[in-house]
Amino acid sequence: MKKKLDMLEELQGIDQQIDTLKASQSGLQAELSGINQGVDVARDEVALLEASLSECETGKTELEATHAAELENITRSETNMKEIKTNKEFQAVGREITAARKQVTDIEEQLLQKIGQLETLAGELAAKKGQLDELVVNSGQRIEAKQAEISTIQSDIDSETERRENVVKGLPANLVKRFTTLREQRRGQALAFARDGYCMGCNMHLPPQLYNNLYKYEELLVCPHCQRILILKLQQ
Ligand SMILES: [Zn+2]
Repeated sequence: MKKKLDMLEELQGIDQQIDTLKASQSGLQAELSGINQGVDVARDEVALLEASLSECETGKTELEATHAAELENITRSETNMKEIKTNKEFQAVGREITAARKQVTDIEEQLLQKIGQLETLAGELAAKKGQLDELVVNSGQRIEAKQAEISTIQSDIDSETERRENVVKGLPANLVKRFTTLREQRRGQALAFARDGYCMGCNMHLPPQLYNNLYKYEELLVCPHCQRILILKLQQ
């Protein structure tokens, strides 16, 4: 019985080790997602700036077209003026030309504004792209390092799992089943140490007879309070 208990204790140690390794692995996985998310955010920012820039360029092209059309109108009106006979008509066309010239001036002002916006946006885009490139390189290195850590941990998990299988082979199947069920029910702790008459799993006092029986190693004894399999530990 003592040997079985020792093996169960080893099994619990391995299981805890595997739990710890898996926890660090998921921590690293979370860090990996964080890094990827950071790159995605930077990519979205670049895409947004590219869209604004393209919108601004379209606006500029449209203004240029309107500008050209207005200039054409002015030229046409000026040509027509030469053939005008009445003073009334002359004045009407003159007013049209004045209005068109005002329009041209307005469009030119808007164009200047657009050009300014384009320059600002192009500058912002170049800076963002630079940051993104840097981030991609930097993240690539960090991702590689994290992935290397994850696979190192995985090989540790694999060797612990192999070790676990060997211990399990040496134990009766029903005992392993009991251990596994208990472990699930007792938040990863199927075993509890017994010391100075107490169960260290739940800190409850053990019946003296039960505690004394632990010294005999004749049968599997469980704590009447938390149902964990008891293992006698005289020292810490
Ligand atoms: Zn207990």
